[in-house]
Amino acid sequence: MNSDKARQLLLAKQQQVKEQLKSIESNDPVLSFADLANEAQESGTEVWQSDVHFKSLVLIDSLNDLSSQIDKALLNVKDGSYGKCEKCHVSIPKERLVALPSASFCAKCAQDF
Ligand SMILES: [Zn+2]
Repeated sequence: MNSDKARQLLLAKQQQVKEQLKSIESNDPVLSFADLANEAQESGTEVWQSDVHFKSLVLIDSLNDLSSQIDKALLNVKDGSYGKCEKCHVSIPKERLVALPSASFCAKCAQDF
Protein backbone atom coordinates (compact mmCIF):
# COMPACT_ATOMS: atom_id res chain seq x y z
CA MET A 1 0.00 0.00 0.00
CA ASN A 2 1.43 3.40 -0.87
CA SER A 3 1.72 6.03 1.84
CA ASP A 4 -0.91 8.36 0.38
CA LYS A 5 -3.48 5.60 0.47
CA ALA A 6 -2.43 4.62 3.98
CA ARG A 7 -2.66 8.20 5.21
CA GLN A 8 -6.09 8.54 3.62
CA LEU A 9 -7.37 5.40 5.34
CA LEU A 10 -5.95 6.45 8.68
CA LEU A 11 -7.33 9.96 8.51
CA ALA A 12 -10.77 8.62 7.57
CA LYS A 13 -10.61 6.21 10.50
CA GLN A 14 -9.46 8.99 12.83
CA GLN A 15 -12.40 11.12 11.73
CA GLN A 16 -14.78 8.22 12.40
CA VAL A 17 -13.36 7.74 15.90
CA LYS A 18 -13.73 11.44 16.68
CA GLU A 19 -17.35 11.41 15.55
CA GLN A 20 -18.05 8.35 17.68
CA LEU A 21 -16.46 10.07 20.68
CA LYS A 22 -18.56 13.16 20.10
CA SER A 23 -21.80 11.20 19.88
CA ILE A 24 -20.99 9.16 22.99
CA GLU A 25 -20.24 12.33 24.93
CA SER A 26 -23.44 14.01 23.83
CA ASN A 27 -25.50 10.94 24.76
CA ASP A 28 -23.90 10.57 28.17
CA PRO A 29 -26.07 12.01 30.93
CA VAL A 30 -23.06 13.02 33.01
CA LEU A 31 -20.83 14.33 30.24
CA SER A 32 -23.65 16.14 28.52
CA PHE A 33 -24.65 19.04 30.73
CA ALA A 34 -28.02 19.72 29.08
CA ASP A 35 -29.28 16.17 29.61
CA LEU A 36 -28.07 16.19 33.17
CA ALA A 37 -30.11 19.29 33.97
CA ASN A 38 -33.24 17.70 32.50
CA GLU A 39 -32.92 14.26 34.01
CA ALA A 40 -31.65 15.16 37.45
CA GLN A 41 -35.14 16.24 38.53
CA GLU A 42 -36.54 12.74 38.40
CA SER A 43 -35.89 10.23 41.12
CA GLY A 44 -34.15 7.00 40.28
CA THR A 45 -32.21 8.48 37.42
CA GLU A 46 -28.95 8.55 39.32
CA VAL A 47 -28.39 4.80 39.10
CA TRP A 48 -29.31 4.85 35.43
CA GLN A 49 -26.98 7.78 34.88
CA SER A 50 -23.98 6.18 36.50
CA ASP A 51 -24.61 2.98 34.59
CA VAL A 52 -24.77 4.76 31.24
CA HIS A 53 -21.87 6.96 32.27
CA PHE A 54 -19.74 3.97 33.19
CA LYS A 55 -20.40 2.34 29.83
CA SER A 56 -19.56 5.59 28.06
CA LEU A 57 -16.27 5.85 29.92
CA VAL A 58 -15.28 2.33 28.87
CA LEU A 59 -16.14 3.12 25.26
CA ILE A 60 -14.37 6.48 25.37
CA ASP A 61 -11.33 4.75 26.79
CA SER A 62 -11.13 2.22 23.96
CA LEU A 63 -11.79 4.90 21.34
CA ASN A 64 -9.02 7.07 22.78
CA ASP A 65 -6.77 4.05 22.63
CA LEU A 66 -7.66 3.49 19.01
CA SER A 67 -7.14 7.17 18.30
CA SER A 68 -3.60 7.10 19.67
CA GLN A 69 -2.87 3.93 17.67
CA ILE A 70 -3.97 5.79 14.56
CA ASP A 71 -1.75 8.75 15.48
CA LYS A 72 1.14 6.36 15.89
CA ALA A 73 0.38 4.71 12.55
CA LEU A 74 0.32 8.14 10.90
CA LEU A 75 3.81 8.79 12.27
CA ASN A 76 4.88 5.41 10.88
CA VAL A 77 3.55 6.43 7.47
CA LYS A 78 5.76 9.53 7.71
CA ASP A 79 8.93 7.63 8.57
CA GLY A 80 8.16 4.79 6.15
CA SER A 81 7.70 2.03 8.71
CA TYR A 82 3.94 1.79 8.26
CA GLY A 83 2.50 -1.61 7.34
CA LYS A 84 5.26 -3.65 8.96
CA CYS A 85 4.55 -5.98 11.83
CA GLU A 86 6.17 -4.63 15.01
CA LYS A 87 6.98 -8.11 16.17
CA CYS A 88 8.14 -10.18 13.20
CA HIS A 89 8.67 -7.28 10.73
CA VAL A 90 6.83 -8.89 7.82
CA SER A 91 4.68 -6.62 5.67
CA ILE A 92 1.12 -6.68 6.93
CA PRO A 93 -1.20 -7.75 4.08
CA LYS A 94 -3.02 -4.87 2.45
CA GLU A 95 -6.44 -6.42 3.13
CA ARG A 96 -5.70 -6.35 6.85
CA LEU A 97 -4.61 -2.71 6.74
CA VAL A 98 -7.73 -1.75 4.83
CA ALA A 99 -9.90 -3.49 7.43
CA LEU A 100 -7.82 -2.25 10.34
CA PRO A 101 -5.68 0.74 9.32
CA SER A 102 -4.13 1.09 12.77
CA ALA A 103 -2.89 -2.51 12.84
CA SER A 104 0.71 -2.66 13.98
CA PHE A 105 0.99 -6.46 14.02
CA CYS A 106 0.36 -9.06 11.34
CA ALA A 107 -2.65 -11.33 11.92
CA LYS A 108 -0.44 -14.12 13.22
CA CYS A 109 1.36 -11.98 15.83
CA ALA A 110 -1.88 -10.26 16.83
CA GLN A 111 -3.26 -13.70 17.65
CA ASP A 112 -0.36 -14.47 19.95
CA PHE A 113 -1.35 -11.71 22.34
ZN1 LIG B 1 4.07 -10.45 12.82
